[in-house]
Amino acid sequence: MKTHKARCKNCKSTVVLTEHLRSYILSDHVRCTIQSRIASCQTCTTVVYAERLPKESSIKDRDILAWLRNRKSPPRCLECGGTDLQYPNEKGLLRCHRCGEDIQIRGDSRLVLSRRWDWYTSEGELVGANIMSPSRGAVPIEPKPALPTGEKRTNE
Ligand SMILES: [Zn+2]
Ligand SMILES: [Zn+2]
Repeated sequence: MKTHKARCKNCKSTVVLTEHLRSYILSDHVRCTIQSRIASCQTCTTVVYAERLPKESSIKDRDILAWLRNRKSPPRCLECGGTDLQYPNEKGLLRCHRCGEDIQIRGDSRLVLSRRWDWYTSEGELVGANIMSPSRGAVPIEPKPALPTGEKRTNE
């Protein structure tokens, strides 16, 4: 799993991010690993991992292609589900929520093992957080995380 360190050059506030496995549950039988990217979330007011929707041309699986073509929501923050996101500029910098100055992002190739596995709807909304157990598979973490405000879970 990848890790990132985001540090403001001015106020020195630092965020260390560690990615873990996340999947879309597209149907009873189809899951798709979520690709992520660094973004600044205006709702979380911090640096987060956000969805990176794949390019159609990179997809060979028919079910996943169908999902991508039907996808309605813009990419979401994987923490809160918000869509008010900013991405690093061409210099790889984000704006600090505290002081407005530049935040520098560094990727870290250090190997981090995470047993966390979170599930999301096809529209990128969190539906379940799990810890992978060698003997019991995905074990739900209770209580379930709250849904993003203003959005309702549907059983479509
Ligand atoms: Zn700052
Ligand atoms: Zn957020």
